[in-house]
Amino acid sequence: MTHANDTSALKSSVIAAIGNTPLIRLKRASEETGCEIYGKAEFMNPGQSVKDRAALFIVEDAVKRGQLKPGGTIVEGTAGNTGIGIALVANALGYKAVIVIPETQSQEKKDALRLLGATLVEVPAVPYKNANNYVKYSARLAHKLAAERPEGAVWANQFDNIANRRAHVETTAEEIWRQTAGRVDGFICSVGTGGTLAGTSLGLKAKRPGVVVAVADPFGSAIYSHYAHGRLEATGSSITEGIGQGRITANLAGAGVDGAYQIPDEEALDVVFRLLSEEGLCVGGSTGINVAGAVRLARDLGPGHTIVTILCDYGTRYQSKLFNPEFLRGKGLPVPPWLDAPQTLPT
Ligand code: PMP
Repeated sequence: MTHANDTSALKSSVIAAIGNTPLIRLKRASEETGCEIYGKAEFMNPGQSVKDRAALFIVEDAVKRGQLKPGGTIVEGTAGNTGIGIALVANALGYKAVIVIPETQSQEKKDALRLLGATLVEVPAVPYKNANNYVKYSARLAHKLAAERPEGAVWANQFDNIANRRAHVETTAEEIWRQTAGRVDGFICSVGTGGTLAGTSLGLKAKRPGVVVAVADPFGSAIYSHYAHGRLEATGSSITEGIGQGRITANLAGAGVDGAYQIPDEEALDVVFRLLSEEGLCVGGSTGINVAGAVRLARDLGPGHTIVTILCDYGTRYQSKLFNPEFLRGKGLPVPPWLDAPQTLPT
């Protein structure tokens, strides 16, 4: 058992409050499809995202291997959420966090990282093949700090360190199986590192090989093209953050994927706005992709099935983007009426 399997009501620390998130029935998605569609409320983790699980497992693994010593530094390149998880875990366990982030990521995530005391290094958002890509930059920085600091430094390496997907085999999949009493027919989510998709897939398929696992990714994503057509090529871009991978990471390899859906931003945003206004669920863009994907998977499987997806992070993390009329208009995207209208009393 790891900390993240702790089901007790009294938590020994914030670390023990990671995981064991509720499965919330998604009303409209379920009613429209005749399936039972549930979202795993990962925004209820202490760092408000699914990445707390991977952060904890990666840190615990580095400690177990003797790579991370008391007072040591954890370095990571991240779209933000993994960094927030690492910063929380580092504070709770007595380590330091140095986070390398592409400058295009939301201000709210950068502010959260600073607030948590992480050292933030912002780098230009350049492709993986560029030496200054945030992932490669973070690897070099970790190497340098490891040589300089007496207490040492480790590179979390969330993309290729399979402690990431182990978190989802041992916690996310276990929880989904227990929470649905083994009645899960389908699982779907998008891919950043692939840890959530592959780990949950491997965990669920070990219990029931017939569970259908699918990828939901932004329109034109390379991972969609890989699973749908066997070609790893990106043909589009998206306003969603934290997803849209261009290679088969060690975490994604052998994920056991049965199908793939590509979701345009307009469709994902419509889902985000309706989850908020009709169901009180305030979530980020990748969750919109996931829930839209769950609806498509439900239509393909037919009525009567139980499908689980991931509610990756909380929407306030994107207030300056997804919930900002100027940002949306600038991208040619529809603005939800309540964000645009002058404040009036509800009738
Ligand atoms: N959604 C968001 C908002 C994320 O930050 C991430 C992780 N970068 C994901 C989805 C994808 O998770 P994973 O890394 O496990 O594929």
